Amino acid sequence: MQSILTLLSLRKNHVVKDFHHNLRAGLAILGLSFLSLQSVTWSQSSGTGTPAKQSKPILPTGESVDTQVSKTATSPKTIDQTPRTEKLDGKEGRELSVRHFHPKSQLKVSKSLKTHAKYHVVDAHTHFRHKLRQSEQALSDFVTVMDRNHIAICCSLDGRLDSELDEHMQFLWSNYPNRFVIFANIDWRGMGDPDEPATWACNQSGFAKRTVKQLEDAVAKGASGLKIFKQFGLGYRNANGTLIEIDDPRFNPIWNACGQLGIPVIIHTSDPAAFFEPINETNERWEELSRHPDWSFHGENFPSRQALHAARNRIIERHPDTNFIGAHVANQAEDLAEVSRWLDRYPNLWIETASRIAELGRQPYTARDFLMKYSDRILFGTDGPWPELRLQINWRFFETRDESFHYSEKQPPPQGLWKIHAIDLPDPVLKKLYHENAAKLIPGIAQRLQQLQSTSETSPAEKSKTE
Ligand SMILES: [Zn+2]
Repeated sequence: MQSILTLLSLRKNHVVKDFHHNLRAGLAILGLSFLSLQSVTWSQSSGTGTPAKQSKPILPTGESVDTQVSKTATSPKTIDQTPRTEKLDGKEGRELSVRHFHPKSQLKVSKSLKTHAKYHVVDAHTHFRHKLRQSEQALSDFVTVMDRNHIAICCSLDGRLDSELDEHMQFLWSNYPNRFVIFANIDWRGMGDPDEPATWACNQSGFAKRTVKQLEDAVAKGASGLKIFKQFGLGYRNANGTLIEIDDPRFNPIWNACGQLGIPVIIHTSDPAAFFEPINETNERWEELSRHPDWSFHGENFPSRQALHAARNRIIERHPDTNFIGAHVANQAEDLAEVSRWLDRYPNLWIETASRIAELGRQPYTARDFLMKYSDRILFGTDGPWPELRLQINWRFFETRDESFHYSEKQPPPQGLWKIHAIDLPDPVLKKLYHENAAKLIPGIAQRLQQLQSTSETSPAEKSKTE
């Protein structure tokens, strides 16, 4: 984990610097129009098709953002580079910033409240180490939420290895042995110096062999899979400082071993398409990226998204006896035709839905057709633990015919300024998505489901708490 954090912060500095550089360069060219841009992109995002209105700068003539920034920068007390938007409130003839646009929908359509899933759920993508920080209280509180929502089992993807894995197993399994399965992670950096990739574990000879041993040990202790984070391809580096490529043959023994051990590899590769585009007025996730410029992978410091996907697909192709789960709809939810081609081509590829109902729900017909067609290869995931409301939105999305609703409890919506439409999956598909496919693919799920079922007729979840 530490290595991941270090890598992230390394990258962050890099990107933030780039972002500010680009922003400044852009401002120099655009002058005042930067502020205006913030106020014009909404109509595109809201899907009305209305051409964006040409907006006028609202600051006094001659005062640009550049001077504003330099002014505040010279003031010792208020060093703040945040673009000023407080006046762009849309009132009294003023322009409106995206940040201040909070429209109340006048649409009158039916709204379903889904307090729980229709069938028992296996959540294939959760982060119980990163999000709960080993708090026993937070864990028992969330198990109560799982009970209420009919989530039988969560796959915690932050297991790590060795003694840290032991700790995580103890944390989750002491009180809830049937409610969690755990995925291990690779320790790419080891004790290496974060600034010296040549010292990282992954660049020492015998690394893959040692990792295979650690994974064998993890599986012997009950681990159910291997999770690869997105830094693989975007953060981990070769001894010479270049980024490690996902299909680097040095790591083939690891993918082979997972097949032999019978565990799936859930792999997060790249990120949403918008994160690889410039942060400008045409970026469909501008609002979010402007708050988190460090999430951007645009520019020459990173491989293209296409190259990352291609490299991932090559390891899937070269290891037909290993099952891979493409996290977040294989990170190509914006183009389900492409994901379909991958699923057709690689019988050992599965996908899961975590943090992608915003994408699926803005193309409800396409998404429904896709999920129906590949219903044997799709797992349910959330990226949680989340607040209960987010879980309920998932049930509403997959199970109802509701139209035009928020995909998140957060405002502004965190993954694009749009709403989603539900896809009303038929019961047999829901069952496969919610738990049947996970039971087939992930070791430890089927027997836990069975055990939960046999200990309680109505809510297997509640019963296991009292075991
Ligand atoms: Zn995740």
